[in-house]
Amino acid sequence: MNYISTRGKTAPMQFSDVLLMGLAPDGGLMLPEEYPQIDEATLTQWRTLSYPELAFEIMQLFATDIPKDDLKTLIDKTYTVQAFGNPDITPVRTLKDGIKIIELSNGPTLAFKDIAMQFLGNAFEYVLKKKNERLTIIGATSGDTGSAAEYALRGKDNIEVFMMSPHGKMSEFQRAQMYSLDDKNIHNIAIKGMFDDCQDIVKALQQDAEFKAKYSLGTVNSINWGRILAQIVYYFKGYFASTTDNSQKVSFCVPSGNFGNICAGHIAREMGLPIDRLIVATNENDVLHDFFTTGKYSPRTADKTYVTSSPSMDISKASNFERFVYLLAEKNGEKIHTLWQDVNAGKGFDMSDLMANINGKYGFVSGKSTHADRIATIKQVYAEDNQLIDPHTADGIKVAREVRKEGEVIVCAETALPAKFAETITEAVGQLDIPRPKHTDNIESLAQYVTVLDNDANLVRAQIEQFVVAK
Ligand SMILES: *Cc1c(COP(=O)(O)O)cnc(C)c1O
Repeated sequence: MNYISTRGKTAPMQFSDVLLMGLAPDGGLMLPEEYPQIDEATLTQWRTLSYPELAFEIMQLFATDIPKDDLKTLIDKTYTVQAFGNPDITPVRTLKDGIKIIELSNGPTLAFKDIAMQFLGNAFEYVLKKKNERLTIIGATSGDTGSAAEYALRGKDNIEVFMMSPHGKMSEFQRAQMYSLDDKNIHNIAIKGMFDDCQDIVKALQQDAEFKAKYSLGTVNSINWGRILAQIVYYFKGYFASTTDNSQKVSFCVPSGNFGNICAGHIAREMGLPIDRLIVATNENDVLHDFFTTGKYSPRTADKTYVTSSPSMDISKASNFERFVYLLAEKNGEKIHTLWQDVNAGKGFDMSDLMANINGKYGFVSGKSTHADRIATIKQVYAEDNQLIDPHTADGIKVAREVRKEGEVIVCAETALPAKFAETITEAVGQLDIPRPKHTDNIESLAQYVTVLDNDANLVRAQIEQFVVAK
């Protein structure tokens, strides 16, 4: 399988090369030339497979330059009961009103990002060993992404991780989760500043070409193709768990920020999985909701992005969105280049003439949920079903209930566990013991390993020079 860029100016590449990449050299995102097509007979065969078996069948269609036995080993090592607490990896449960929930958050850091990141950790290690290369991952996090990356990369050969977080700004649970890791290759750096300052440091180091080459800097952000690929699997798994034969359709509702999760659903639908609608749920940061209802995309700047109680969706420039718009624009790389020039100039773009395709051919609809909706939904689900859901999942359920058609089966993505967001849960239902997976019991009382630095890229640079041997 050849991978190309959405902007059309990057030479075709193979999976192993794309895996270690961020943006394509032409500024676009990498994706397969064509999405493989799954026929009805294959769907029937796949229906009864275990999660790792299904993951292998799907991923081998995309990772064509990795020997099949090696790929199988990577997958079997990743999707285990030990890591995900359940042999189904992403089990589906049903609320009293018929809305289904696919559990994507049973991994080590209690958020859906683990599903892809755990695979990526193993895949990075494998590819680096083959190429005889090393990688220094630098990242900025306000919570979920950083911890998912650290738990995926801890103890991996040939990988060093430097993760910047804003000093004193994360929840006690999030701090404990990240800072309690004592693996030698994990370096937690708390910056005296905000999340944006951390991100600026990452950018500054990445832009220093000489330093970047000398220390083999890389990232694991949400545009990484490997992450999208790993996420495609649970759309198939969730579909099979929610139906009895392939004549049935289901819709998926996904709490969205960077459009990474639902982009995988879009690709599963393009591959022929009988998905009816893809429902994009946003919080107060509703740039995507605007697009899917009007066809107009007007990304906001960081200072116009609200801080909400579903913080992992506080995003106003959806970095994976370009992978969908590329299809919408009939794979015209020139056009994508122009559209994103307008985005970067702060103008956004207007594709309202394609609304029929957006809603019909591609099946996208959307809805929005606010803090009050989130609280009300957590409360309602607790009262009716005696279950706690996290604030992001609540946004999804609110929107699913709002847009649901008569007889429609909607599967909502549970993108985090409530234990991560105790404050909002308490606001909704009062003080109570929020259930926690065993491995996070007492996590707050463990020793923490973190270096606190002033907001200065040069101090981070010095840390990297101290711990990584230059090329
Ligand atoms: C990252 C995240 C999201 C948003 O997912 P995208 O792929 O960025 O759309 C939603 N909920 C939680 C809990 C997350 O961590």
